[in-house]
Amino acid sequence: MAGRYESNRIPPPERSRRHALRRAPLPAATKLTEPDRQPQDPGLRRVIRCAACAASVTSEDQAIAVDHGHTHTFPNPHGLVFTIRCFATATGCLTHGAATPEFSWFAGYRWRLALCRECLTHLGWQYLGNGDAFFGLIVAKLRSET
Ligand SMILES: [Zn+2]
Repeated sequence: MAGRYESNRIPPPERSRRHALRRAPLPAATKLTEPDRQPQDPGLRRVIRCAACAASVTSEDQAIAVDHGHTHTFPNPHGLVFTIRCFATATGCLTHGAATPEFSWFAGYRWRLALCRECLTHLGWQYLGNGDAFFGLIVAKLRSET
């Protein structure tokens, strides 16, 4: 199942915004300040919590697309079907165990378990590639802050 997908990460939207900021010429002595990295849409800063204990897990601005999509539905080898969302980071997750390539849903990525740091509920998996990593978190185990 893994071989069907090619790794193709979509670059974050900050890049195009940064280009636009550079257009105005600056006096030589003016120091460029780091552009505001906060997303303009307050919805993107929304916290995503563990559905079991309400601890903060990640936020909407960490949502990324992997293999052409942000949300994926996959069966595991036992026939259980999971719908996951992909996030660049999930600071509320503990990772557990050694990463393995077995039955990986993403070609070229090894995985290990991702648990809620507070209540240790299984929330999904961390995927480790060649120098990069992301989290695939189970939609049913999360709740979005409203
Ligand atoms: Zn929890």
